[in-house]
Amino acid sequence: MRYRHVALIGLGLIASSISHAIRRAGMETRITGHARTEKSREEAARLGLGEIFPTAAEAVEGADLVILCVPVGAMADVAREIAPHLAPGATVTDVGSVKQAVIDAVAPHLPPHVEFIPGHPIAGTEHSGPASGFAALFDNRWWLLTPLPEADPRAIARLEAFVTALGARCDQMEPAHHDLVLAVTSHVPHLIAYTMVGVADDLKRVTESEVINYSAAGFRDFTRIAASDPTMWRDVFLNNKPATLEILGRFTEELFALQRAIRTEDGQHLHDYFTRTRAIRRSIIEAGQDTAKPDFGRVGDAERSAG
Ligand code: NAP
Repeated sequence: MRYRHVALIGLGLIASSISHAIRRAGMETRITGHARTEKSREEAARLGLGEIFPTAAEAVEGADLVILCVPVGAMADVAREIAPHLAPGATVTDVGSVKQAVIDAVAPHLPPHVEFIPGHPIAGTEHSGPASGFAALFDNRWWLLTPLPEADPRAIARLEAFVTALGARCDQMEPAHHDLVLAVTSHVPHLIAYTMVGVADDLKRVTESEVINYSAAGFRDFTRIAASDPTMWRDVFLNNKPATLEILGRFTEELFALQRAIRTEDGQHLHDYFTRTRAIRRSIIEAGQDTAKPDFGRVGDAERSAG
């Protein structure tokens, strides 16, 4: 059964893409929304993303699906505000890039008459705000749900059907496992990109000319990732602390091993390592999660990174 009324709290990249994808799917769904600042609310209204309200409480009134699309650190406040206004039988989900911390922040505020089914679309770009969304963002991307053990299977199935209609592929995962997997595939890679761009920026001479003029694919990709929203990513690291620290520890060990291989001119180690990593790239392409086109098919295609 399709949702009659979807409320989007937060109106940035993910929420605006959901709105476009709902329309593209031809769902006859009322869409309401709220963002923190008047500027974003006005922009969202102008773009026709839905009926925009000055408060989250008004936006969720009567909705049978509420999607929290705010930075992870804002989830608790939003949940506290909307809780008294949620319709009985409504499903509340979120799109936060971290799952255990969001569950801990949101679940205690919600009344027993709603279903809370946390989620995370593995789809994104480095852009943010109401104008950054597009209908195809979720096409063929995974949308992970991390339901709590007591969740109603019918409510889960309904949400799965909804995200599938937006173009995504749906799967379920334990929240802690999700956080570890995403630390490896997204969070630590973003931190490494931030670090590399920061290092280049420290070498002022380089920043002024060479880095920009001679920006090779590797560094250019880092700068794109490092342009991602600072609030969102601050919240990701503060809320996925154990998993990111665990993976960073392993990363540092591997980096030292490679550093040693360079110093001792152990070409075999370097070659074996790079052969193994190349095979991983191949399997991502075979799984349909990226393109084999040179330069990531950059010319003409939307660029993607996932939080
Ligand atoms: P975004 O484009 O920066 O939008 C965030 C939205 O949240 C804005 O509309 C902002 O309103 C609103 N907001 C912030 N604090 C708020 C508050 N206290 N009350 C109400 N609204 C508030 O962010 P996004 O990329 O869509 O990310 C949203 C969520 O999706 C995050 O939890 C993120 O972890 C997750 N996610 C992101 C990606 C990605 O790659 N970007 C991928 C998957 C999941 P104002 O504009 O008025 O400040």
